[in-house]
Amino acid sequence: MSFAATVLTLYPEMFPGPLAASLSGRALEKGIWSLERVQIRDFAHDRHRSVDDTPAGGGAGMVLRPDVLAEAIDSTASEGDARPRILLSPRGRPMTQAFVRDLAKGPGAVLICGRFEGVDERVIEARGLTEVSIGDYILSGGELGAMVLLDAVVRLLPGVMGNQESGEAESFETGLLEHPQYTRPQHFEGRGIPEVLTSGDHGRVAAWRRAEAERITRKRRPDLYALYEAGHRPGKGES
Ligand code: SAH
Repeated sequence: MSFAATVLTLYPEMFPGPLAASLSGRALEKGIWSLERVQIRDFAHDRHRSVDDTPAGGGAGMVLRPDVLAEAIDSTASEGDARPRILLSPRGRPMTQAFVRDLAKGPGAVLICGRFEGVDERVIEARGLTEVSIGDYILSGGELGAMVLLDAVVRLLPGVMGNQESGEAESFETGLLEHPQYTRPQHFEGRGIPEVLTSGDHGRVAAWRRAEAERITRKRRPDLYALYEAGHRPGKGES
């Protein structure tokens, strides 16, 4: 069963864009996931094909109309379509690895990309959209957010990553940031590789990596470290 992504956007030509390269591109060719692009403007009603209007109450910018967006969403819904409808939005729940992992286990996603000042609140309610944010900054549109989400999901789909294990040890999967990584050459501009990593002692290597992951997380992300210390493990119910 392949992961079915539908993206609703005013800029369908932006897709697959960077997702056509590397891991996600190969997976797309292999049919591990599929990508359908829907031009929101195709659902405009007037001859100017307008999709937006001025904000009620005044103020700068334009807002995406609820009727046009609702019709675009409804055009993607077939009988029994259980895919979550996700609106990329700076007001949404922060995108986490646990969220991405849950999504990757499901049938796919309908991703709605806002533009301008955002979308009319009523379509969010009426179509049960889940708002998801990729971080505390403002993008000019949801398209890059949708790409970030798809990139994160697709690499988790079975058959996409060569070494399935490398997904497991990564930052956030353990609740900790990752330990430092090294490779050849043995000496680089006067810097060596920590001795323990070349000792061949797997127990010591594992202990060193865990200690480094804890040290780095404590220093850089005290918020994550507090959750880790409290026994929180991502993917076990919480996100
Ligand atoms: N006026 C809005 C921002 C609109 S930005 C506000 O202040 O909340 C235009 C569109 O870009 C949004 O509708 C959303 O789809 C997308 N976008 C902007 N920032 C985003 C973020 N951090 N995460 C996900 N989508 C974002």
